[in-house]
Amino acid sequence: ELTRAENNRSLMVEKANIDKILHQLIKNLEMIHPDIQFKLTIDRILPFAMISEQHLQQILIILIDNAIKYSKENKDIQISAEQAGSEILLSVIDNGIGIPADQVHEVFNRFYRVDKARSRENGGIGLGLSIAKRLIEKYNGSISINSKEGIGTKVSMTLPVVTENGRF
Ligand code: ATP
Repeated sequence: ELTRAENNRSLMVEKANIDKILHQLIKNLEMIHPDIQFKLTIDRILPFAMISEQHLQQILIILIDNAIKYSKENKDIQISAEQAGSEILLSVIDNGIGIPADQVHEVFNRFYRVDKARSRENGGIGLGLSIAKRLIEKYNGSISINSKEGIGTKVSMTLPVVTENGRF
């Protein structure tokens, strides 16, 4: 087990240009899903986030893929990124089927799926969110979900910003 300090040191060189990653990702998603509107809101000047670009991409794909899979009529998705002090806040909002209140706390568990019968057609195995959470926590970030059944879901995550000397 690495101590938190050792972990921070080994991650110090990692920095992700969130603006670039989000624009690239949405450009690709718009090609694959021409029927879905992706609405992107980004702070005009966003510092680098302390995470590898590859891992950030992987996390965002899991969240956006879920937003698409668990939406029916209105598949439009809002993605936003803003700075709040030493953190960057990212969120993915859908207008989908939502998650029942008594199950929200379960969805980060490995292999947990709400209503297995209904979502089986989507072919998931219930690993996406647990992987996303583990990755984010590796970079000292956090992830949480707000959801209303039949209304939609908001997944929020934070990541530390990279400051001038690479520390935070
Ligand atoms: P996969 O392993 O392919 O990611 P999965 O989508 O089932 O499969 P998770 O991403 O871990 O796995 O999600 C767990 C469960 O949480 C899902 O099965 C689904 O029931 C629920 N869920 C996740 N995201 C959303 C969302 N945006 N809206 C509604 N339900 C969601």
